[in-house]
Amino acid sequence: MSEPSSAGLGPGATLGILGGGQLARMIALAAADLGIRAHVFAPEADSPAFDVAARHSIGEYEDEAALARFADAVDVVTYEFENVPAATAAFLAARTPLHPGARALAVTQDRLTEKRFVAELGLSVAPFRAVDSLADLEQAVVALGRPAILKTRRFGYDGKGQVKIVAGSDLAEAYETIGHFPAILEGFVPFTREVSVVAARNGQGAFAAFDVCENEHRDHILAFTRVPARLTETASRAAIEAARRIGEALGYVGVFAVELFVVGDGAEERVIVNEIAPRVHNSGHWTSEGAETSQFHQHVRAVCGLPLGSAARRGAVEMENLIGEAALRWRDILSEPGAHLHLYGKRDARPGRKMGHVTRVRPEAG
Ligand code: AMP
Repeated sequence: MSEPSSAGLGPGATLGILGGGQLARMIALAAADLGIRAHVFAPEADSPAFDVAARHSIGEYEDEAALARFADAVDVVTYEFENVPAATAAFLAARTPLHPGARALAVTQDRLTEKRFVAELGLSVAPFRAVDSLADLEQAVVALGRPAILKTRRFGYDGKGQVKIVAGSDLAEAYETIGHFPAILEGFVPFTREVSVVAARNGQGAFAAFDVCENEHRDHILAFTRVPARLTETASRAAIEAARRIGEALGYVGVFAVELFVVGDGAEERVIVNEIAPRVHNSGHWTSEGAETSQFHQHVRAVCGLPLGSAARRGAVEMENLIGEAALRWRDILSEPGAHLHLYGKRDARPGRKMGHVTRVRPEAG
């Protein structure tokens, strides 16, 4: 397959996607809108993205023969999840362009590396300490106080691999809970709200951020995103500036999300970076109908070397995740004027499983 020219990949090109979940599915659909074929590589035979991709390969991420065949069949590779093994990323990057690149993965796969990286950019993060033993944990709790949150450095998502340490918590038990893995302790941030910036950067350094959105979690899983976020103009600008600097420092190509905590209020309101996701993000799903260019189209544009689209918002937007049996309401949602239903084609509506989402866009008041 051909290398992308300076004009970028166009219709007829093939975009390789690692991972076969709903994010890959929506990237593949966006690629198809631009005449670009998606080839999805994932280990699970019932991957939701396979239904909508021009081609798919079933293989383990460690299977180099399968990865080599995949790399030969595509023009560029991207991924829908941040835990792509480093060896897999390096193997693919040696054969075909990989966007976002290996550095974005390396920095964001490890919470300690990520926190240091963000702090070195001069951006606010929660106070943190590395924890590699129970003795480290004891010292870190003395230094940061309680409450604090103990998180594994790697493989944590949706609140997994973390435990809150409050007055009276037994530290040995807490360390046991996260499985004695390398960890960090973070001081507890007394946030008023959680927000995120979903943004894109292309290979020419162009940057486009969607408006800051506000996220409501239930049981550690995103339940609602609302845009615009209730945020002062100053805090909103700071959040977008944080994303711009992170993207630039990573030499990032593609869409990414920066999750932030909002603390203080009025003129004192400010944002603290919680984490970076090097991929399209659930808190950006509102853009499908709520922005001029969806995050999925924007990601395809960025990784294919094409101009970024407008990130302008189209109104006041709410995105509701359909978790588990909530997706059984699909008929009612279809009858609701103005509701846009997205289902991911997953068969079992297990508790906690993201089955789909709905977006609702209303004209902005005033
Ligand atoms: P994370 O996996 O880091 O995104 O954390 C999941 C959720 O835990 C966040 O969305 C917050 O609601 C909460 N959380 C994580 N870290 C902190 C912190 N340092 N202070 C307060 N709440 C936190």
